[in-house]
Amino acid sequence: MSNGATDLRWNGRICWVRKQVASGDSSLNTVVLLSGGMDSTACLEYYLELGHHIRAIFVDYGHPANPIEYFHAQRIAQHYGLSLDRANFTGPKGLGPGEIQGRNAFFIFSALLYYQHLKGLVALGIHAGTRYYDCSPSFFSQIGLIVASYTNGQVQVDAPFLQWDKQQIWAYCKEHGVALDLTYSCEKGEAIPCGLCLSCRDRSRLGVC
Ligand SMILES: [Zn+2]
Repeated sequence: MSNGATDLRWNGRICWVRKQVASGDSSLNTVVLLSGGMDSTACLEYYLELGHHIRAIFVDYGHPANPIEYFHAQRIAQHYGLSLDRANFTGPKGLGPGEIQGRNAFFIFSALLYYQHLKGLVALGIHAGTRYYDCSPSFFSQIGLIVASYTNGQVQVDAPFLQWDKQQIWAYCKEHGVALDLTYSCEKGEAIPCGLCLSCRDRSRLGVC
């Protein structure tokens, strides 16, 4: 691919991370929202390679897939030698596949609630190639502004793969040895992935078992 699997620069991205790293501050606190899937695991790898101090959190919001996602997120955190925090919320039952209104904003604010004194980044693995509003550059800039305002600039939202598609994230994972075999994504939350939902179809297309 023309921009290279490790070229993480793109126009419009908040440069705050790179400024800090360039200034020699490699001990940034970064909270990674870990779902157990490929994108958030790649996100974890990305910040670990930058030398950040990582806290990983799984947000259980009552989706049927959450129990098995949590199981896999635990395995991933263990693989990287990290503990995994868990925020549990109860809400309406019957959340289905596809876009879930408010989800990524809820994840970000869950992290903000959970880590009251955080100074650093809240990072998530949202990416291009989806029509979901809460994966879009406009969502990213809007939520980033709110979070920075809440925290007097002490917390920034970051999404290193915002302009990458799934194929590019997959290529990053392969190049950086991300443990894809530990990841799980099936929107139905079945022990044996359904093979039919969007996540399953993505994984099948990329050859991720
Ligand atoms: Zn599925």
